[in-house]
Amino acid sequence: MEPVQFEIGDRLRLRKKHPCGGFDWEVYRLGADIGLRCETCGRHILLPRSEVERRMKQRLPRLPKPEDDFDPYEL
Ligand SMILES: [Zn+2]
Repeated sequence: MEPVQFEIGDRLRLRKKHPCGGFDWEVYRLGADIGLRCETCGRHILLPRSEVERRMKQRLPRLPKPEDDFDPYEL
């Protein structure tokens, strides 16, 4: 099976819901463990990469970052 590539800022939906009821997570840290932030309650968790791959249901579209709208020539 192809290893899944994760990037910081990726948004994932997991099969198992967080105790707060949320399913959607944002990747904030990469390494042997993947750091995820719950989009519903804001809590941070660390999960082994294999666990994230196993629990991932789907990828979600990335949210545009506010700084993407910044136009340096507008001044
Ligand atoms: Zn949560």
